[in-house]
Amino acid sequence: MKIGIFGGTFNPPHIGHVAAAREAAAELGLDKLLVIPDAQPPHKELAAGSPADAERLELTRLAFGGMKRCRVSDMEIKRGGRSYTVETIRRVRDKYPGAKIFLLMGGDMLMCFEQWREFEEILKTVTLAVFARRGGERERIFRQSENLRLKYGTNLRTVEFDEIEVSSTQIREALPKRLGRELLPEAVYAEIIKKRLYGAKPEYEWLRKKAYAMLEPKRISHVKGCEEEAAKLAARWGADVERAREAAILHDITKKEKLDEQLRLCAKYGIILDEMERNEGKLLHSKTGAGIARYEFGCDDEVYGAIFWHTTGKEDMSLLEKVIYMADYIEPNRDFEGVEELRRLAYQDLDRALEMGFSMSIEDMRSRNIVPHARTLGALEWIRKEKR
Ligand code: ATP
Repeated sequence: MKIGIFGGTFNPPHIGHVAAAREAAAELGLDKLLVIPDAQPPHKELAAGSPADAERLELTRLAFGGMKRCRVSDMEIKRGGRSYTVETIRRVRDKYPGAKIFLLMGGDMLMCFEQWREFEEILKTVTLAVFARRGGERERIFRQSENLRLKYGTNLRTVEFDEIEVSSTQIREALPKRLGRELLPEAVYAEIIKKRLYGAKPEYEWLRKKAYAMLEPKRISHVKGCEEEAAKLAARWGADVERAREAAILHDITKKEKLDEQLRLCAKYGIILDEMERNEGKLLHSKTGAGIARYEFGCDDEVYGAIFWHTTGKEDMSLLEKVIYMADYIEPNRDFEGVEELRRLAYQDLDRALEMGFSMSIEDMRSRNIVPHARTLGALEWIRKEKR
């Protein structure tokens, strides 16, 4: 039986890790590959702001989940403290007596191999399987391999693999700038965004794609318009433009869901409803949309509030809530009597625009024999008082 051990910090696991592991497993003909995230790497400190061990383990499981004969092991995380490979190898040998063990590593690890704890024992018991991480590294790997062979009679194989120049460090730096998505397996990226690990913010294009997939196609142009309007309004009034975009992109994601599904989502996200809301699906999409934004896309409370209140409005709205309510009302695809006046006002006096918007909504509902929600009536009262 041939077993590969691939250890690392996987903070986070990226496409370079997965591609290297896949190539090595195929080239070495492994029966089993153990991917083992360490607890505390011996040669470096975990970066500040790293996720908890359990979250890193989960990301690693998501990254390698699709690989045949591969198992992500929590043995080093369970063991805790500095993770020394020699101890891991002893454990694996005990568990799989007689197995031929390959220790997979990138060229950077080979260069410092003589500093590893009890590296000579490691060399006696396993074959090193080394792959280049970046172009131009092969020559150095070759020289170091020769060096180790001469000194210790090392068993070493190089794995041919088209390098993917990427590191976890680079990704940790990119994620808060809404970059780095293409360097991660999709499931890993989605999980990072969901929990906003590493201070990550979603790439707008990715978020749009996710949101538009949840919409009826005819609604996409409205959402696009709303995003542009929200960004402009936010810039005009000093609200957070990035949050405005996230809220606008996601504000209608549950719009097409029927009452049953809306109620199920409300129960799932712990959203408490009043009598009117329990019977009226249209009023619920803002709340369930906010729930998905928070729990599936990791949006913060401000974005949550802006989505949550975009249908009815309410008293004491925050600036971002006002921006999203208004952007939804006046985005370029809207066409109704009075919209031009409302658009002009929205950039001149946001509160007066809101007053006009609430009044128009209430009138429109009454003209169609719909009882306006008490929140909207309250919002109108409030904005009038504010102005006084
Ligand atoms: P960091 O940037 O945080 O130091 P890293 O990207 O180097 O992280 P590790 O988790 O430390 O990733 O690496 C685990 C193992 O994967 C090591 O053997 C390393 O050489 C290898 N490795 C890392 N990145 C690549 C890559 N792009 N291609 C091939 N192997 C890689």
